[in-house]
Amino acid sequence: MGDYGWSDLGSAARAACVQQLLDAGLLQSLDTLLRLHAASGRKDQRARDAAHTVLLVAGQLLPPILRAHDAVARDAGAGAGAGGDEGGAWWPQDELGVLVSAAKLVRREAADPDPTWAADIAVDFASVAYGLSAVIDNLPPPSVPNREGGPGGGAAAREGPAAPTLTAAVREVMALACCTALPILERAAAADGTGAVGGGRSEMVQPEDPCNRDTALHTDAIRPIAACLVLAVQAVRRTELLALQPQRALALLSRLLLREHDLRRPAEGGVGGSVGGGARDDIPEEDLPALAGTVAGMLVHMAADEQLVGAVAGWLRGEAVAGTEAPLDPGALAAALRPWNAAAADAVARLHAAAAAALSPAAVGGAVIGDGASAVDGGGVEGLLAAARSDAAKWRLPGMQAALARLGDTSAWPPLVLRLCGNPSCRNFAGPVEADLPLRQCSACKSVRYCGAGCQRQHWREGGHKAACARLREGGS
Ligand SMILES: [Zn+2]
Ligand SMILES: [Zn+2]
Repeated sequence: MGDYGWSDLGSAARAACVQQLLDAGLLQSLDTLLRLHAASGRKDQRARDAAHTVLLVAGQLLPPILRAHDAVARDAGAGAGAGGDEGGAWWPQDELGVLVSAAKLVRREAADPDPTWAADIAVDFASVAYGLSAVIDNLPPPSVPNREGGPGGGAAAREGPAAPTLTAAVREVMALACCTALPILERAAAADGTGAVGGGRSEMVQPEDPCNRDTALHTDAIRPIAACLVLAVQAVRRTELLALQPQRALALLSRLLLREHDLRRPAEGGVGGSVGGGARDDIPEEDLPALAGTVAGMLVHMAADEQLVGAVAGWLRGEAVAGTEAPLDPGALAAALRPWNAAAADAVARLHAAAAAALSPAAVGGAVIGDGASAVDGGGVEGLLAAARSDAAKWRLPGMQAALARLGDTSAWPPLVLRLCGNPSCRNFAGPVEADLPLRQCSACKSVRYCGAGCQRQHWREGGHKAACARLREGGS
């Protein structure tokens, strides 16, 4: 999507426009609207439409506003002038709070037996996050504030000297989108029975309620799921990426691509017309080869990473990862890619062959989650690594290239800039805007912040922070 003539305006006009929009608190108003709906607990169509509209509008407004604000701030030179002084420092997370609220709503609705709404919001959220990824390509590298200087405690902290940069904030939004959207999108696909299409894969996902046509995760979810995963592969720290189980998202993408193929060629699959009353044309057919290439590219890039290659080798060998009931089937993935992009299918097949040839079963056993380095030391993955690296240059992932080249391994997760309650089950929609929710840090590890004692307790007891906290303290964070 373009910037709707924004770039045609002169810099003075842009500055005035941005200042007006920021002063008007438009994005905070959207946040308030979303929170009111969320707090009401309503789940009817009007509530759903409202959430959809909020995210749609936020998605349109955020990129030009953030981009323009950054340009204005740089023109003004280190924040002086430009009429921005009276409000003190500008905090990007104030504008991005609406997305944190959306993430909470997704997670709350994910607990609902019918994950449709959660999936819808997750798709919207992923689309907004991906739209933002284009913003940071043109921004300077972030200087992330330390945790003490971060916006942890309301007004007083806002006057601190270390204004978080927009780049860091945007990358954290992307990481948040990945962490929030991928699990629910996969669940929605499972409830939808997407895996049953094409036969032979039904053991991977069991339709929970095949009679409920509303649970259909349409194939137009391919794009946001791929977007989420692209963001995750590029912007999330390795251990966090593995915790997201990206192989499950790849498996989901392969199922959706396969279904897309079936929908467009009803004679072959025999299921045409059974979903959404016929072929949906949200994704132009000419876009599918690029999407298939992106899917292959993600696998190539993960395999080309020394810290990830051990895990990727495990996926390619179809090994089950603890807690995963849906291992990646590389053969099925290649088959799903082939109708759209033969080169992508070949790349996956090459990696598959390299993994199978180079590995003995002992080489990767167990050393998968968060411990890719030891798998490398165990020997046997070099062949896969070499194969992936020779392919990596060919399969460029869209978005964020320039910014990431400068960033190195800067972590985007857990967030330092974005104001986020550390409890993944947080459902606190109190107060008018997310940005005003007071957060207090865990006094033991000082690494996570919570909106209240309830969330801290829940995360400690049920969310595994008790163990994580000890690790964080040992790690000397
Ligand atoms: Zn909370
Ligand atoms: Zn802690």
